[in-house]
Amino acid sequence: KIEISSLKKQFGDLIVLRDINLKIAPGAVIALIGPSGSGKSTLLRCMNLLVIPDGGLIRIGNDAFQFGPGTSLPSAREQARFRRGAGMVFQHFNLFPHMTVLQNVMEGPVSAKNMPKAEAAVLARKLLAKVGLAEKADVYPQRLSGGQKQRVAIARALAMEPEVMLFDEVTSALDPELVSEVLSVMRDLAAEGMTMIIVTHEIAFAREVADIVVFMRDGVIVEEGPAREVIDTPKQEGTRSFLRHFH
Ligand code: ATP
Ligand code: MG
Repeated sequence: KIEISSLKKQFGDLIVLRDINLKIAPGAVIALIGPSGSGKSTLLRCMNLLVIPDGGLIRIGNDAFQFGPGTSLPSAREQARFRRGAGMVFQHFNLFPHMTVLQNVMEGPVSAKNMPKAEAAVLARKLLAKVGLAEKADVYPQRLSGGQKQRVAIARALAMEPEVMLFDEVTSALDPELVSEVLSVMRDLAAEGMTMIIVTHEIAFAREVADIVVFMRDGVIVEEGPAREVIDTPKQEGTRSFLRHFH
């Protein structure tokens, strides 16, 4: 179970997350949509402690942190453990260029969980097969297409056995013909019951795959509800005018 409560973040004078509250049931798929600058990436980055919130609470599974005045920052060790609960995939694949695909996927379990290399290799091969890249295990990232790199990045995040997967516009930088292979992996994960938060501009995909759509603007959740209801019959004018851009 994932819970975000009264989450706040500002950069200087700019308030980016005002008071975000969100509960996510195990296995739920959330599509997070909203205009540029609304705070979507910041929200995901807070969940991964890439950004430290100014206030509020984040619970991922059995780990919870309270932020803000009177609380102390989690220790590096606690942060590392917490971070493992949330697997993140970014717009720009950040694979290690000097490692093979297999080594990229093994790296997390070996270095952060002390998994024996042989065991990590078995796990990595299984995950590469899952994302359709079993035959690319021994090549270096530079030999892969963008869509393949993104699928390796997904396998690498899954290797940590996270409680939730966070996807931040993972198809936005891809050539159009490579988008569907990545979406298809995400669709499979959703069907398997992985809990996911997906920031995306692929509205049709969000409508099809997500259980819940959350619309954010100016650091506030303006509307949230069942994916089809929010996308087909948005209740708030802000959501309506945003979605109009996609028709
Ligand atoms: P996009 O759709 O363009 O990716 P977003 O909804 O993901 O937008 P964020 O990246 O969360 O938006 O940014 C929200 C606001 O916070 C923006 O105005 C951005 O410029 C600002 N911001 C984000 N990170 C920082 C930072 N590290 N320092 C200062 N300002 C930041
Ligand atoms: Mg963003």
